[in-house]
Amino acid sequence: MLLENSLTFAQTLDEQDELQLFRSYFHIPKTKSGDEVIYFTGNSLGLQPVTAKSAILEELENWANLGGEAHFEGRNPWFTYHKLLTDATARLVGAKPIEVVVMNTLTVNLHLLMVSFYRPTAKRFKILMEGGAFPSDQYAVESQVKFHGLHPEYAIEEIFPRPNETYLRTEDITKKIKDLGEELALVLFGGVNYYTGQAFDMQTISSVTHEVGAIAGFDLAHAVGNIPLQLHEWGVDFATWCTYKYLNSGAGGTSGVFIHEKYADNFDLPRFAGWWGHDEGERFLMKKGFKPMRGAEGWQLSNAQILPMTVHRESLKIFDQAGMNRIWAKHLKMNHFFYFLVDEFNKGNHKFKIQIITPLDEKESGCQLSLVVKGVGKQLYNFLMSKGVSVGWREPEVIRIAPVPLYNTFEEIYQFIELLKQF
Ligand SMILES: *Cc1c(COP(=O)(O)O)cnc(C)c1O
Repeated sequence: MLLENSLTFAQTLDEQDELQLFRSYFHIPKTKSGDEVIYFTGNSLGLQPVTAKSAILEELENWANLGGEAHFEGRNPWFTYHKLLTDATARLVGAKPIEVVVMNTLTVNLHLLMVSFYRPTAKRFKILMEGGAFPSDQYAVESQVKFHGLHPEYAIEEIFPRPNETYLRTEDITKKIKDLGEELALVLFGGVNYYTGQAFDMQTISSVTHEVGAIAGFDLAHAVGNIPLQLHEWGVDFATWCTYKYLNSGAGGTSGVFIHEKYADNFDLPRFAGWWGHDEGERFLMKKGFKPMRGAEGWQLSNAQILPMTVHRESLKIFDQAGMNRIWAKHLKMNHFFYFLVDEFNKGNHKFKIQIITPLDEKESGCQLSLVVKGVGKQLYNFLMSKGVSVGWREPEVIRIAPVPLYNTFEEIYQFIELLKQF
């Protein structure tokens, strides 16, 4: 595609966009003067689906009118509410329905999954993580290691990019896995790193991890709803994600879990149990003796969080309607346009240059682009925020932006670069 550095060209791309209508499915935040914000922080908190409010109100009505009977009556009985999310979730992450469940919150699920899938022995006890993983994941892993009476200093291995490089090479990750060999118990990586925006080759990482006899788990907080996923086919052992970033399901919302089908009937795996993981047919017999359900549902602890799940359901409907293929196709177009405008910007005579530290290869990145803006400091961030652009800032010099195909536009990308010129 021949690209042009002009507002009319950006607007033409928007007119040709098949997903143009989807922006109207979300509430776009406004500035104090009433203009729509250029919202590039959907990687941090996705926008509210306009149907969220009525979906919540419907369940509040059910509660008001039916009380506890709402578990079995109403349009969507609460007893099985989480199941309404299963098929759409499976489609989104490339899983079979038996492999997924929506429950709890992300860090809670990371712990539950490590209880089952990190089982260190005297010889095989190490966990490999990407260096600079999201802090909650670091704390969860450290505390799991200590829980087993081990020391994080020797049980946790981190891998960093080579000197003068900004992201990891897959060949270095696979070499590290092979080097750790029989000492390696678990690889726990992000699907997309929250800081650099790098998308990891989960299929290769999983297969090499299995070659050395270890387990491969992924935190997909920044991957789900962002990049195409085929968790079943890739042979990922387990994964979990939050639903409030690209999945637009509201702050503190519920989380999703994937556990590969090969564990669906493995009832010997240690797990922390609760009544919602117990055989559904007997759940209300309130009997002694935990009998887990098959598949991911057998890891549930508590009855479904109906209110956050109603919002999640609305968001999943949007993803089903748009389709990950179309979302991905628009994303690629948006990124190409962005790279082109950054090149044009860097050719000009401005106060600073933009360096993109996220891999440019489409297989190694998603919506998020991390930009190094040397020498301008946080003033640039403050300037952008004052102009109604919502971006993420990390000291000392990184701006994170995420043009999201469902609600961002090509025009916004153009306006963003124009604003950088005004700084
Ligand atoms: C957003 C994010 C979290 C947040 O965890 P919560 O339990 O939902 O608060 C954890 N890990 C990663 C990698 C994240 O991106």
